[in-house]
Amino acid sequence: CGVFGVFGHPNAAELTYFALVALQHRGQESAGIATVDGVKLYHHKGMGLVSDAIPKDTLPRLSKGHASIGHVRYSTTGVSQLINAQPLVFNFQRGNLALAHNGNLTNALQLHGFLERRGAIFQSTSDTEVMAHLIARAGNQEMEANIREALSIVKGAYAFVILTDDKMFAMRDPNGLRPMVLGKIGDAYCVASESCAFDTIGAELIRDVEPGEMLIISAEGVESTRFSSAGKQSLCTFEYIYFARPDSDIDGYNVHMVRKEFGRQLYREAPVEADVVIGVPDSSISSAIGYAEAAHLPYEIGLIKNRYIGRTFIQPSQELRAQGVKLKLSAVRKIVEGKRVIMIDDSIVRGTTSGRIVSMLRDAGATEVHVLIASPPVTHSCFYGIDTSSRDELIAANKTVPQIREYIGADSLSFLSEEGMMKAFGFDGSGDHGHCNACFTGRYPVEIHEEFTKSHFE
Ligand code: SF4
Ligand code: MG
Repeated sequence: CGVFGVFGHPNAAELTYFALVALQHRGQESAGIATVDGVKLYHHKGMGLVSDAIPKDTLPRLSKGHASIGHVRYSTTGVSQLINAQPLVFNFQRGNLALAHNGNLTNALQLHGFLERRGAIFQSTSDTEVMAHLIARAGNQEMEANIREALSIVKGAYAFVILTDDKMFAMRDPNGLRPMVLGKIGDAYCVASESCAFDTIGAELIRDVEPGEMLIISAEGVESTRFSSAGKQSLCTFEYIYFARPDSDIDGYNVHMVRKEFGRQLYREAPVEADVVIGVPDSSISSAIGYAEAAHLPYEIGLIKNRYIGRTFIQPSQELRAQGVKLKLSAVRKIVEGKRVIMIDDSIVRGTTSGRIVSMLRDAGATEVHVLIASPPVTHSCFYGIDTSSRDELIAANKTVPQIREYIGADSLSFLSEEGMMKAFGFDGSGDHGHCNACFTGRYPVEIHEEFTKSHFE
């Protein structure tokens, strides 16, 4: 998912709308905006892309507010329905509250049961509502104290943005699993999942929110406090591999530059003789350029993506995903015909995409297709807010690399090693160097509960 918030700007709702469009790649299932004018809270949520979910004629109603938060969703807990769209909105006796969340709460199941036994009635089936109930039952005068109490109970991965009548709160989990940045536009402060949202609205990036930090943004400006001592820093490496936009900077690293370095490392680990290097648009282009540069081979556009079709991965079912791949990509015959092709992709999750592309390239006349993947094999599920599927769906959890090569029909197949991946960030030696690499290694930085599934609360 993607979150955004801005406080103290006359065009808060419009800025939020445009920021959500910039964060659209982080979720396409639903979108929503909540805004406050000091007395009332207005909100609108809908299904689909931002442009469908938030029709233009809803903006005038929202634009009375001076502060606004927004959310784009792709589901990691709970079905893709309007009931689970965010921001979640509550009217308490002591005021209004809107809540937007990117990530996954790893103890949501236990907390859900605990709260239900004490009379809480859940409206949605997402893990985020747990946080709202914890805030509601904390019962302190000050909302800040309630939020702190709730944060002391939830575990897992999160970037939260909470809007009340007179304040905006932004929190990043103690391990820094999910990203969040702080920015400024005019005199107003804003927060976002990725810095690309700031570039879009003309805001200036100040810094990343720190793991375990709570920002309190109000008429007095921004105050930095802590709600937890920082845990073991565990930045999600998959943000760099696939999820984030290449123009974003996360924790000081530009995503495109990191991907390019993945490509160079991949060449060092797996040099292949071939005529041309191509990438699978969009997320593999940077790595393909890096590989071609290191190999002194031409980088070419061998695959074209239909830009009117969303990310195949973020469709809820395998059936839809399989259909989407066909619609989405075409080979450029003149580029690949009669050539030995190196095809770079950012990751193999289920193995559907690569297999289809290999046969597409052969159909277009490629004489050899070598598949090189700019990340290690995904062998474990993510419990922290990226939908990398259950283990039985992960091809690398069930097949060896030679078996995967055979399955996708490639002439050769290599993956980047964890060490090579970490080298791209400037680290040497084994280990995760302050990153979460759990989906490649099974070393989970925050305790997980394997029985927890996406549809647990349904
Ligand atoms: Fe990111 Fe993988 Fe860790 Fe999930 S398990 S947070 S996808 S690195
Ligand atoms: Mg891809």
